[in-house]
Amino acid sequence: VEGDVGGWSIPMGRILGIRVRAHWTVLLLLPAAMTLLAGGVFPEWYPGWSVTAYVAMAAAAALLLLVSILLHEMGHALAARRLGIRVDGVTLWALGGLTRLSGPAHRPRDEVRIAAAGPLVTLGVAVVAGAAAPALAGVAAAQGVVAWVAAANLLVLVFNLLPGFPLDGGRILRGMLWARSGDHARATRTAAVSGRAIGAGLGGLAAVLIVAGAVADGIWLGLIAWFLVGASGTEEAMAAAERALGDTTAAAVMRPVAGVVAPGDPVPPAGPRGAPAWVVASDGLLRGLLVVREASSPPAARRPGLRVCDVALPRGAFTELAPDDVIGPALEGLVGEPRMAVVVDGDRPVGIVTLEDVDRRLRPAAVHHAPPRRRGARRPVRGHVR
Ligand SMILES: [Zn+2]
Repeated sequence: VEGDVGGWSIPMGRILGIRVRAHWTVLLLLPAAMTLLAGGVFPEWYPGWSVTAYVAMAAAAALLLLVSILLHEMGHALAARRLGIRVDGVTLWALGGLTRLSGPAHRPRDEVRIAAAGPLVTLGVAVVAGAAAPALAGVAAAQGVVAWVAAANLLVLVFNLLPGFPLDGGRILRGMLWARSGDHARATRTAAVSGRAIGAGLGGLAAVLIVAGAVADGIWLGLIAWFLVGASGTEEAMAAAERALGDTTAAAVMRPVAGVVAPGDPVPPAGPRGAPAWVVASDGLLRGLLVVREASSPPAARRPGLRVCDVALPRGAFTELAPDDVIGPALEGLVGEPRMAVVVDGDRPVGIVTLEDVDRRLRPAAVHHAPPRRRGARRPVRGHVR
């Protein structure tokens, strides 16, 4: 559901106001799906056809699968936006899609709704494709493609609903546990432990597949298992940090806004004194965030005409917190780039919270609790897998 991947991605435009990007690893997903389909599935379903026919069908099916994934992510994104959470955008990558939100759901019910919206869309796509397949009986190639897309979406649906982090099912589970106990940190921990168990199970299955000779399937499943185990471990460390932070609010750890720039200003040559970012505002209202390493990066320095709005992060691309928001549930958003949140009172920026500020707060308690950045420099990748 939520998260972002590191590395570069290509902007693909906007759909219903939601930014869509393709991560470079999608370039791995497409040939993998093409090989599976043109080399295995379609020749088995329709023996004796030309290679060209198989390749054309495989290309159409792989493309429709990508569109299905995009629709699934749009489901999450639109549900979040409806509930008042800003959406940075949707990224397609090797293991599916990720939707990045500007903050955590404030109520268990919202979390469940956002997490369930994607699988609901996938179910809809599977039903529509499944219903369309018999109607295409006269066009065997199209029928084959649509039938495969229906089956693939069903598989994605079942997989996504496995009740462990970072899958949608894990978020639904957390929302439900959170609603029952009122303890967000404990609910996160349970969903993370469950995610790791699922990852370990899939890893075992991957090993069996490889030994049995299904090497490509095994490797793919192994990658997914590795992703699940890694992401749930990150989540578990954050649950421990969240517990240690207790009721600490954003206002208690924030530093005041050190420098404000307007969207039309030239990019300042250096950051505000002692602060990690400029707050971008006009008429006192938050417009974005200009992270210092971004402002001082060589490209900006080399292009003198560059304005703040050309390089600043728009709202949605970073976490926003209210002064009295409890910091713990927001950690998930803080570990991703730009590793800081803006504290807003209404729409007025009042402070910045960096991951380091939270870390410092945790240090006295660190003897008993894992700090949130235990996993070192490795960028935590969160989201759901397809
Ligand atoms: Zn999802």
